[in-house]
Amino acid sequence: MTYVDLHSHSTASDGTFEPADVVRLAKEAGLSGLALTDHDTIGGVEEAAAEAGRVGVTFLPGIEISAEFPHPGTLHILGYGVDPASAVLREMTAQLLAGRDNRNPKIIQRLQELGVAITMGELEVEAKQGNPELANKPVGRPHVAAILLRKGYVSSIKQAFDKYLAPGGLAYFDKERLSPRRALEMIRESGGIPVLAHPIQLRTENDAQLDRAVKDLVDTGLAGIEVFHSDHTTEWVEKCTRLAERYGLLKTGGSDFHGSNKKDIALGWAHGQRVPREFLDALLERLAVLSR
Ligand code: AMP
Ligand code: ZN
Ligand code: FE
Ligand code: FE
Repeated sequence: MTYVDLHSHSTASDGTFEPADVVRLAKEAGLSGLALTDHDTIGGVEEAAAEAGRVGVTFLPGIEISAEFPHPGTLHILGYGVDPASAVLREMTAQLLAGRDNRNPKIIQRLQELGVAITMGELEVEAKQGNPELANKPVGRPHVAAILLRKGYVSSIKQAFDKYLAPGGLAYFDKERLSPRRALEMIRESGGIPVLAHPIQLRTENDAQLDRAVKDLVDTGLAGIEVFHSDHTTEWVEKCTRLAERYGLLKTGGSDFHGSNKKDIALGWAHGQRVPREFLDALLERLAVLSR
């Protein structure tokens, strides 16, 4: 029995380790497989795949995107095995980046109005970490949070979100999102398998509401559900396992590793659980069927 991690972020979005370093960490953690699932981009998958080939880790390219969902919940959809050459994928990531480009200046302007010394230039430097090649990199709130922390406006990333960046915070702005239907459709048209990420974050009020939300997504093309996740207690693992069985969904799991942007999350671990290799193998089998 070996283990995998199917949810991880790199410097291609808001993680703090380079894609190849995430792969090396997976190898060091004894994992036999890894999926990189950066927000709104597959910019890290080529580098990660090459490193995985060198060190002998099975690699699955992925992406994580946000879709519209009623407050206070958030709906994230993972797309596994998307084809980097797909025109639909390119269109989707361009649209998602445009949504961020509209939001970031609003956040920065509001922070300036609040007396915080921060500029769009600094945000870009922070996100690109001095690497101009990362032209199409999604710039997100964790990058803003890192600046606020470094300059001493807050004492932790969490405090940066609580005070300024989370809904209800002083400098919160939403970004434009895809509808769930469009998100699922675009992942499928990109050759990928759409999976509901961390269902606990839907913040549904009860099991009936959760069931309804999952059923609606299944009716729209959802193919899998994330069972193990760093936010998932045993109760949530059981809930999601039951939903997978009820709706014939693939089961996935991962840590949602972000490096030092989420210090208490270790690659390969999801709330004290490890993710069995068979979850990855089932995704690979489904992808093989899709490409036939
Ligand atoms: P964005 O892509 O700009 O909407 O930011 C999303 C990222 O911010 C994800 O990595 C989230 O996990 C992270 N995030 C959201 N809320 C918080 C929070 N309260 N504390 C720390 N990170 C958060
Ligand atoms: Zn993230
Ligand atoms: Fe997420
Ligand atoms: Fe994530």
